[in-house]
Amino acid sequence: MKVILAQPRGFCAGVVRAIEIVERALKKYGPPVYVRHEIVHNKHVVESLKKKGAHFVEKLSEVPPDAVTIFSAHGVARSVEEEAAGRGLSVLNATCPLVTKVHNQGKRYVAQGRTLILIGHAGHPEVEGTMGQISGPVVLVQTEEEVETLDIPTDAPVAYVTQTTLSVDDTKGIIAALERRFSDIVGPEISDICYATQNRQTAVRELSRQVDVILVVGAKNSSNSNRLYEIGLETGIPSYLIADSSELQLEWVRDARTVGLTAGASAPEVLVEGVIEALARLGPVEVSVLDGRKETIEFRLPAELASV
Ligand code: SF4
Repeated sequence: MKVILAQPRGFCAGVVRAIEIVERALKKYGPPVYVRHEIVHNKHVVESLKKKGAHFVEKLSEVPPDAVTIFSAHGVARSVEEEAAGRGLSVLNATCPLVTKVHNQGKRYVAQGRTLILIGHAGHPEVEGTMGQISGPVVLVQTEEEVETLDIPTDAPVAYVTQTTLSVDDTKGIIAALERRFSDIVGPEISDICYATQNRQTAVRELSRQVDVILVVGAKNSSNSNRLYEIGLETGIPSYLIADSSELQLEWVRDARTVGLTAGASAPEVLVEGVIEALARLGPVEVSVLDGRKETIEFRLPAELASV
């Protein structure tokens, strides 16, 4: 069996930074540290940080007074920041800088007097954070059809921003529909939203041309892993989203000559290695890596953790 690995796959710079913040905070302040929401959407990452002394909570009210508190990579609403400040909690913010950039873009548009349209998935913590960062009118749009039902005059000044785990390809249909409907609309350069989302999606499309089946390693609640899986299906190649090798089913790969393997931005490489080992137990495997885009982006850590 041939196994082809997508390139790039797995951890992005925002996830690396967020995990590093928790690990350095544990080293600097000692356990426990409190993390609001899963630091990134991956159980294996969360479990390994729990073993080191991180406590994961959904609400700030679960954080004891004076505890070191970390906001997850997805970002938080302003009300959460205010609650933490009101309680005097010492906060380290692991919000990905690309998510913060979307917050700032949104704030700028609202300050210009525009109604903001956020393209994203309802209920995702990043969407809740972004909507909660902007004091002004923000409307969530999830599909092209929803654009037609928006209760905003077609000549009103509007602007759009997008959830980072949607790629240029995911959003272009909705943006085109918005541009058809509104005469005074602006938005950011969309190729600029998140390099990692776009690169992983491009790589899975490339992978689909060479394989009989696609395995995506990632959590069921990881938005970007789900999109990789959906893109696999869209290309017509049988595709499966698995948390790790324990979810691999023999019948998916039994007749495959070439298996494509990728991982969402929050899935550690060790899980990809585990899947290769599981495939190798079925018979000899020949592993190769797709030619793909090399990623060199790194995000700076908060100043207080830079030299830990
Ligand atoms: S996927 Fe993009 S926006 Fe999300 S954490 Fe990674 S780099 Fe940041």
